[in-house]
Amino acid sequence: MRIAIVGGGTAGLAAAYELERARAAGAQVDYTLYEERARLGGSLASEIVNGAVLERGPDSFLTEKPAAAELCRELGLGGELLPSNDAARKTYIVVRNRLVALPDGLMFLVPTKLIPTALTRLFGLRTKIRMGLELLHASRPSGGDESVAALVRRHFGQEAVDRLADPLLSGIYGGDAEQLSAQTVLPRLVEMETKHGSLTRGMLAAHKRMRDAAKNSTGPARKAPPIFTALRGGMSQLVDALVARIDPANLRMGTPVSGIKKTGSGWIVEAGGTQREYDGLIMAAPAWAAGSLLTPVDGALGGELGGIPYSSSITLNLVYDETKIGTLPEGFGFLVPAVEGRAMLACTFVHRKFLGRTPPGKAVFRAFLGGMNREALLAESDESLVATVRREMSEILGARTFSADVEPEHAQVSRWRRAMAQYAVGHKERMRRIGARVAELPGLRLVGNAYDGIGVPDCIRLGRQAARELTGVEAKTPALVR
Ligand SMILES: Cc1cc2nc3c(=O)[nH]c(=O)nc-3n(C[C@H](O)[C@H](O)[C@H](O)COP(=O)(O)OP(=O)(O)OC[C@H]3O[C@@H](n4cnc5c(N)ncnc54)[C@H](O)[C@@H]3O)c2cc1C
Repeated sequence: MRIAIVGGGTAGLAAAYELERARAAGAQVDYTLYEERARLGGSLASEIVNGAVLERGPDSFLTEKPAAAELCRELGLGGELLPSNDAARKTYIVVRNRLVALPDGLMFLVPTKLIPTALTRLFGLRTKIRMGLELLHASRPSGGDESVAALVRRHFGQEAVDRLADPLLSGIYGGDAEQLSAQTVLPRLVEMETKHGSLTRGMLAAHKRMRDAAKNSTGPARKAPPIFTALRGGMSQLVDALVARIDPANLRMGTPVSGIKKTGSGWIVEAGGTQREYDGLIMAAPAWAAGSLLTPVDGALGGELGGIPYSSSITLNLVYDETKIGTLPEGFGFLVPAVEGRAMLACTFVHRKFLGRTPPGKAVFRAFLGGMNREALLAESDESLVATVRREMSEILGARTFSADVEPEHAQVSRWRRAMAQYAVGHKERMRRIGARVAELPGLRLVGNAYDGIGVPDCIRLGRQAARELTGVEAKTPALVR
């Protein structure tokens, strides 16, 4: 069987690795991975500068999604897994240039503790009263999809959208709460509303169930896993370990796929001026690229893929000598709501979030900029972006803590154009339509961050699953898009 993989990011590399495993298990598989860029890894890209690990793209993955840590262990990187420093975890929201800590008891955007909610400076009195009255919210039959902002607004009001939903979602998805799908991004809250009416009551009931289960379990008490897991030497360790398992003869870097055709029983892939025939096709390029390649094969499918919105973003790492900055507030960093009118969406105190990736005496700040409808920022020069971030950090942290005049030892800017898919209102329905089209095209699999989870673990899971299904080796759970 011959398989083409289009795209060598997380999902494409995970698929290639799984095909190598199938070959090792005796499957007759021949494959080619096509990657447009000269390097593999897609948005996974780390660099070590004077001993500090700087991440251009993802800095970690969610521990609760096992696919990434499992793969790292399989690749011999178990000893490199680095938990987030959760003991020091505290996140701030910028409110009129001041840092306000997220109140204790906040679960998935839902306040569950009365006193911290009553005392926080994050919300005004009207919102706090509304949050209390939310306990009386009537249940609602599950209906069509709506935006995250609409769901949060109905329960807690506009201020909760502006100060909570918007910054949290733009910090994770580079997304817009007014556009993101509640059904896809916050399915637990949608379920709770149907069952309990009040999200606060739903969350308290879920919390009680968890506490009771922990009390009734007979085994030894288990330490809570870290929220995030990183790799000691940077996320590129995963890319390097995957590439080391892949036969280089199967890799075509710097080779964009320029055309796809369907034959009676297979696929023709056009790249680098040549055409090759395959039985299977794993599309691991962003949905917009997959859409334009597949339009000649199936216009409706191409249209659906092209309709999945993407956001562009910028990450900016600044390395400082710690003696040149003042005492930072405790915690991992801060999020900036859009209503603050700043370029920055978030800033991570990297040296606090993961211990051991920054040399002693250095502080690393990672700013995140861009998001939906802010493409224009990508056209700005590196110098201008660095100056903007230094100025905004000084205004937010205070000039005594962070002076815009102090030069960083190193500054690194990375632009990610249309790299993060947005699960917009109606995403589930769109996925159903895409699934129906793909079912008519044997041998095609769609993988990557546009479909069933935005993070690194989701991309790994989908990539590996697609390869297993096509080769029939270890096919356990069916891929969502087939
Ligand atoms: C700035 C940023 C920060 C992020 N932070 C996190 C994080 O901390 N944790 C987390 O879990 N997730 C994070 N994500 C999301 C995560 O990076 C991605 O979901 C995941 O790595 C995407 O992998 P992918 O394989 O789907 O896509 P990509 O990494 O985008 O790979 C797609 C590849 O396809 C190639 N390609 C495109 N067109 C063609 C063509 N015609 N022919 C050949 N090749 C083509 C591209 O060059 C690219 O290499 C972040 C994303 C970004 C952009």
